[in-house]
Amino acid sequence: MSPTTNDQVLRLFKESDALLQGHFKLTSGKHSEWYFEKIRLIEKPAALEKIVDLLVEKIKAESPNFEYVISPAYGAIAIGFLAALKLGKKFAFTQRVEEKMSFRSGFSGVDGSRAIIVEDILTTGGSIHEVVAGLKERNTAVSGIFVLVDRTGGAVPIEGKPVSGLLALKIEAFEPDVCPFCKMGIPLIKPGASDKKV
Ligand SMILES: [Zn+2]
Repeated sequence: MSPTTNDQVLRLFKESDALLQGHFKLTSGKHSEWYFEKIRLIEKPAALEKIVDLLVEKIKAESPNFEYVISPAYGAIAIGFLAALKLGKKFAFTQRVEEKMSFRSGFSGVDGSRAIIVEDILTTGGSIHEVVAGLKERNTAVSGIFVLVDRTGGAVPIEGKPVSGLLALKIEAFEPDVCPFCKMGIPLIKPGASDKKV
């Protein structure tokens, strides 16, 4: 991907307020320059649509041949559904049933088809691994794996399949005593703190 496209995607994420730049205290206690609020993506469909349009172009270029777009519940459902609509493909989602990633029985057409997986943010890839395993059980070929944001800074293949990220952004987190943003005196923000009723 050209740097221009990465910048373009970064700008769209910032516009949707899904990606905040500043000085944040993460739930781990570490500090970071970036904070993702992925709920903002589905909260603003018009902003999400612009991002999905770019994802759709990437999918068309890299994995043109498949019948289904599959997304794990819940955050990626809107993203995968919108991509499927624009691509003229079918859509299905997986959900956890007693800890196991499963398909609703109504999605029987997935069996034996070709599918791509669309996920919102790649961090460890755990959910995608489970979806790939579920598709294997159904004799469904995985034609591609796509994520809006690759936070790993260069995704490793999952089950031998390359992962294609629209935005690659490695998010560094610092212990407070070595945090460069603390040293610069930038005010620390604790995301979500304003939501909590005392
Ligand atoms: Zn700090």
